[in-house]
Amino acid sequence: MKMLLGIDVGSVSTDIAVLDEEGEVIAWQYLRTKGNPIEAIKEGLAKIEKEFQDKGLDPEVVAVGTTGSARYLAGVVVGADLVKNEISAHAFATIREIPDVRTIFEIGGQDSKIILIRDQIVVDFGMNSVCAAGTGSFLDHQAERLGIDITEFGNYALRAKNPVRIAGRCTVFAESDMIHKQQMGASAEDIIGGLCEALVRNYLNNVARGKELLPPFVFQGGVSENIGIKKAFEKTLNHEVIIPKNNKIMGAIGAALLAKHDVDKNPRETAFKGFRVARTDYKTRTFYCNACPNNCEIYEIREGNTVIARWGDICGRWSEGLKRMKKVKTNKDGK
Ligand code: SF4
Repeated sequence: MKMLLGIDVGSVSTDIAVLDEEGEVIAWQYLRTKGNPIEAIKEGLAKIEKEFQDKGLDPEVVAVGTTGSARYLAGVVVGADLVKNEISAHAFATIREIPDVRTIFEIGGQDSKIILIRDQIVVDFGMNSVCAAGTGSFLDHQAERLGIDITEFGNYALRAKNPVRIAGRCTVFAESDMIHKQQMGASAEDIIGGLCEALVRNYLNNVARGKELLPPFVFQGGVSENIGIKKAFEKTLNHEVIIPKNNKIMGAIGAALLAKHDVDKNPRETAFKGFRVARTDYKTRTFYCNACPNNCEIYEIREGNTVIARWGDICGRWSEGLKRMKKVKTNKDGK
């Protein structure tokens, strides 16, 4: 059975999607990266391989794409046919499912994005990776502080009768404001409802500032699991917000579809190393090059005793010699 593989490695989550040739998701994993993207990839591939074995499926992966902040690393580790940035991957997957989408809100564990699309073409985008107040890790932290399971957060928000107004501009202010409102006797429901509204306000005032927001609005990324945030978007925008079918793994789906598109355009054997990646030993290290005043920090990855990739060198001194070994097809900045 021919399949496509997409991997989206972010700082908080590592998402893996396996699609059939028609683009339908047949297996997926959403894992915590925990500061170790290679282990997260290996764990995800091992789980997917086991799932296929249990189902008696014999997958033939014909195209592999990687995206996310660790897309190059992931591409080298698994043998990707295409490495692509998150904006392209998210947009491609969303347009395929909701062809008339014009605005995508994507909020993940540690960053958030907005993508504007007109006539199925990305015309603008914005990203915020500086302030954590509008991201999943901030919500996780607050859920923990309030002693509430994060999966229940949305339901609490829906039960809010009078959501309190929380200063959501930065994590420090938001947290101290929440503590203050708690001390004033506000219910957990009203605090969480207020927090969801603050997060949306913060997102729209920062990531979406100055952008023309037109429906259909699509909301995806890990935080889109939270029904409270969806409702807060709908209340603020006074419009329906759509959550796509595979809302948590749209980046991985887009990477897989883009890889297939690329392989179809330039037919070739996939560079995928196979599910053996899950059982392969990889080691990474960084070192500084002192050959000139740039003092580049060089990243190196080894498979067993073999160096399979180096990057971070401005002049190519360390990476050039390895380039012919790499089968990853990408342009200079992965766009
Ligand atoms: S990698 Fe090249 S640019 Fe960077 S410090 Fe070494 S010689 Fe200089």
